[in-house]
Amino acid sequence: MTAPAAEPTVFERIAAREIPAQIVAETDRVIAFRDIAPQAPVHVVVTPKQGGYRDVVELASGDPALLAELVDVARGVADELAGGEFRLVFNTGAAAGQTVFHVHAHVLGGRLEEGSLAG
Ligand code: AMP
Repeated sequence: MTAPAAEPTVFERIAAREIPAQIVAETDRVIAFRDIAPQAPVHVVVTPKQGGYRDVVELASGDPALLAELVDVARGVADELAGGEFRLVFNTGAAAGQTVFHVHAHVLGGRLEEGSLAG
């Protein structure tokens, strides 16, 4: 795990209920909420409640069990909201569109908007 960020990330603040969000699922370590700028009919962000891992590559090597838990939460969200079929997108690096450097997956269900994440 990398050193804790000086400031909590936006996703840590959502997990702490300091910033409102439409939370759709959570476990002890993972939270899922509707993306504020949806790019598909179902667009949910799934992320660890604690920061520390910047991206999925760091998480996979640092805590593979947490990555597996995150994917399982994503599957549950997709089962409930998207009929079980979905895209799971991890933007990795600014040039790839990552804007929040706290690892997270996008669960995308239904038809994507033009020019969107995985379009
Ligand atoms: P990325 O660009 O892959 O880093 O994804 C970050 C995502 O977080 C974007 O799709 C944003 O729309 C979303 N986002 C940022 N702030 C919030 C928020 N307060 N509530 C919900 N989603 C957010």
